[in-house]
Amino acid sequence: MRCPICHHDASAPRCANCNRPLLDAAPDPVLELVGVTHHYGTGEAAVQALQGISLSVDRGEVVLMVGPSGGGKTTALLVMGLLLTPDSGTVRIGGRDVGTLAERERAGMRLLRLGFLFQDYNLLNSLTSAENVAVPLRYAGVRKSAALARATELLDSLGLAHRAGHRPTELSGGEKQRVATARALAMGPDLILADEPTANLDSVTGHKVSEQLASAARAHNAAVLIVTHDSRLDDIADRVVHLEDGRILEAAV
Ligand code: ADP
Ligand code: MG
Repeated sequence: MRCPICHHDASAPRCANCNRPLLDAAPDPVLELVGVTHHYGTGEAAVQALQGISLSVDRGEVVLMVGPSGGGKTTALLVMGLLLTPDSGTVRIGGRDVGTLAERERAGMRLLRLGFLFQDYNLLNSLTSAENVAVPLRYAGVRKSAALARATELLDSLGLAHRAGHRPTELSGGEKQRVATARALAMGPDLILADEPTANLDSVTGHKVSEQLASAARAHNAAVLIVTHDSRLDDIADRVVHLEDGRILEAAV
């Protein structure tokens, strides 16, 4: 097996050179939901946020999830990100039923298999761009020098080499989301989940950032699922999924 971070030939469980935990790439589909339901609250206040959604995403696919506010998009993304256990249904990542995993294994899967992007970037203001990108690598036990080298390489690939030493307060919104994109890619994830990543950007910047996210994900053979209100992002996606009232209305290819 080849370490996806430093490209050293290595064998599991860790790369002997940079200390990254090694995993085989997840087989297709990287993500599978079958009949997932979830509700919030009880009695009269109960809301059925997901009414039985099924969805399958393959390696390298760029999927857009659109739909009205309150339709269940964030809930679906939380379920896919193993941050919320649904009431019923099955969630498989790389063929593994995550419902059977202990919390520690779910946390490991989040770190090693998944990348996340948020509307408000979630960067640490006290760290530089390179240090922010290096955070998940450091959590995974990658040595500081190897983590920063990998972070710099990713920032460079996103056209941000000149911002590697800047802190988030010195960056534009678009630059911050590109730093967050580099961070989401850092661990070589199988799937990136993005909840309204362009909501705080003007439409031109939002489009450019989404295009970069899609092409970086394809280059790393990672799937990406982007929740958005912005239907003008259609052209960057392989597929658009409509989620409304907790149901998938159509999945146009
Ligand atoms: P979207 O992201 O598409 O706007 P959400 O998944 O956030 O939709 O919400 C789906 C439904 O669940 C909405 O009716 C929302 O009000 C409700 N909901 C979401 N989160 C909670 C929560 N923590 N407690 C109670 N209701 C919630
Ligand atoms: Mg939402």
